[in-house]
Amino acid sequence: MLQQAVQLLQKVYGYSNFRTGQEDIIWDILHKRDTVGIMPTGGGKSICYQIPALMLPGTTIVISPLISLMKDQVDALHSLGVSATYINSSLSQAETEERLRLASNGEYKLLYVAPERLDSPRFQSLTYRVEVPLIAIDEAHCLSQWGHDFRPSYLSIVPFLRQIPDRPVVAAFTATATEEVTRDIVKLLGMDRPEIHVTGFNRENLSLSVLRGVNKTEYVLNHIHHHPDQAGIIYASTRKEVDELCRLLERKGVAAGKYHAGMSDEERKQSQEAFLYDEVKVMVATNAFGMGIDKSNVRYVIHYNMPKNMEAYYQEAGRAGRDGEPGECVLLFSAQDIQTQKFLIEQSVSDAERKSNDYKKLQTMIDYCYTQQCLRSYILDYFGEEAASPSCDNCSSCKNEGELVDITVEASKIFSCVWRMKERFGATLVAQVLKGSRNKRVTQFGLDRLPTYGIMNSMTEKEISDLIHKLIAERYLAMSEGQYPVVRLLPKAAEVLKGNEKVLHKVPKAPKAAADAGPLF
Ligand code: ADP
Ligand code: ZN
Repeated sequence: MLQQAVQLLQKVYGYSNFRTGQEDIIWDILHKRDTVGIMPTGGGKSICYQIPALMLPGTTIVISPLISLMKDQVDALHSLGVSATYINSSLSQAETEERLRLASNGEYKLLYVAPERLDSPRFQSLTYRVEVPLIAIDEAHCLSQWGHDFRPSYLSIVPFLRQIPDRPVVAAFTATATEEVTRDIVKLLGMDRPEIHVTGFNRENLSLSVLRGVNKTEYVLNHIHHHPDQAGIIYASTRKEVDELCRLLERKGVAAGKYHAGMSDEERKQSQEAFLYDEVKVMVATNAFGMGIDKSNVRYVIHYNMPKNMEAYYQEAGRAGRDGEPGECVLLFSAQDIQTQKFLIEQSVSDAERKSNDYKKLQTMIDYCYTQQCLRSYILDYFGEEAASPSCDNCSSCKNEGELVDITVEASKIFSCVWRMKERFGATLVAQVLKGSRNKRVTQFGLDRLPTYGIMNSMTEKEISDLIHKLIAERYLAMSEGQYPVVRLLPKAAEVLKGNEKVLHKVPKAPKAAADAGPLF
């Protein structure tokens, strides 16, 4: 059976070998096993269900959230000589009818639909007339409340599956599921002893870096200035920030596309196409841009702000280097980004449980921005994959040639202050106490009477707070969840206080941005 799959891969797609994971997923689907395929963006998910669709009798239904993506996929299949179509809200009533009619005659091997369509009785009745051996669900994390992009319309899949006379094999695909989300997908879809494949999150061609405390606009201008021929995406958290950055680039003579949810469909489409066809090299966008966009030659993705969690970050950053050539992923971090993300969580309509989960994920993202660990191994750990080596030599942690400095004394001061404050306050207040601030909250709680009050007054409050965050990322301290998290001591800190362990910290010789900086325009 696999031999036939390989032949199709070669004959239809013109590729010589399967990529890691594809073969196993195809094998499972062909053996009628429900499957979850977790693969990074660009990993080649489509082939995992398209090849079985070609081999199985009847029509495979593909559920996909994006209208533009469906059209692209179907066009691509047509060019390969495969009979496929899509049904979504972009079609007229007559076109929809015609496609449904042809579908009921079994004319298509693949039929792409948006999840909303599954509620329609007319569409449902199709499954009584044609054989549906396989349902493939793209972007399956949209099913889960715990995912970063929950879409209520995805829940229509559940009753839809239930009403199909012969339950088809169900294959769910996503780039970003954590264990929690995977469990949710399996449960909601009522999957029967599913095979779960997590493959290849490591993208060796991507270099990863986090830069803290750099002048962000200067960095972006410099980067574009030094890579004028490269296509790149700059992600910012808010529409306002996107607008401002675009204006700034324009003033500096950089033609940039713009994309956010506040623009009209038409504007967004034009902007997206200009970028896809290399008419503009730089795209400045919120996270509204990108899902399903297949532009292979994006050379860099700069995050102007820290995103809300690791899934979102890696999915966005992963849009660089999809062609396998080097891609650069840079996250420009400032402490203000934490406030923005907390604000967004508070503004959301989610319930308390969801919010607490969002805070937990945010903390993991913040830790990424402060960690000294290899960033690649940090990401792989997060997605439950083992890193081949603890150091990748292609991330800002591994390339940090700084000196190891013993900061045991400073760290101990922080730990004892947290202890004296009875582990009841947040990082900002701890930093203020150590600095000896006269802030009202400090005096109000009588914290100015603590023996640790003012014992780090030679550092700025920001430096102290930065250090606290680094100690959190290195697991000496923990931050509780919630809007007003408190800092607690972890066992590692106790060892330091007892004098059993030292705290070493790498201090870069020169900030990376300054090293990179050439002349500005
Ligand atoms: P995803 O949906 O996982 O983001 P796609 O299915 O769009 O990824 O595949 C990404 C790119 O990789 C596409 O251009 C696809 O044609 C290519 N690709 C997929 N499988 C293979 C393979 N086995 N060999 C070579 N290229 C492949
Ligand atoms: Zn590394």
